[in-house]
Amino acid sequence: MSKKILVPIDISEMELTQQVIPHVEAYAKQDDATIHFLAVIPDYTYFASYGLGYSSIAPDVKEREAAAMESLSDIIAKFSLPGDRIEKHMVSGTPKDHILRLADDINADVIILASHRPSMSTYLLGSNAAAVVRHAKCSVLVVR
Ligand code: ADP
Repeated sequence: MSKKILVPIDISEMELTQQVIPHVEAYAKQDDATIHFLAVIPDYTYFASYGLGYSSIAPDVKEREAAAMESLSDIIAKFSLPGDRIEKHMVSGTPKDHILRLADDINADVIILASHRPSMSTYLLGSNAAAVVRHAKCSVLVVR
């Protein structure tokens, strides 16, 4: 069976994505791998806790999800990959939880992610990267 690569994308941090592109392209060439991109957008229960009714923000949520999907597609277009081997996933919630869950669901062979935002230079691993490295059942490539 062909390999499955999971590539979590923070759509607000293009610099992080730039770092992983050559690595994803190299891995994708092996065994005709399928590349699963995942963008997690922030959970809206946070906004609800400020007393905004869910119904009043619901249209906004839909708009934001549509915009996020568009950003994800634009980002994926920067990778040189065969279109028929790309899968897109987008969910709302906590990035690390969804990255680990999707890795299990698709039975990923490897997760490829960047270590942290350049602005957070005191940390060698960001919070999501650290949780993925610690808890993933498959191999993880942390790009520095
Ligand atoms: P930092 O804490 O410096 O932002 P992170 O650990 O959050 O570092 O980011 C490292 C990697 O985690 C990113 O390159 C990306 O692969 C993944 N990641 C972070 N946020 C998200 C998100 N919202 N959706 C999908 N992946 C994410």
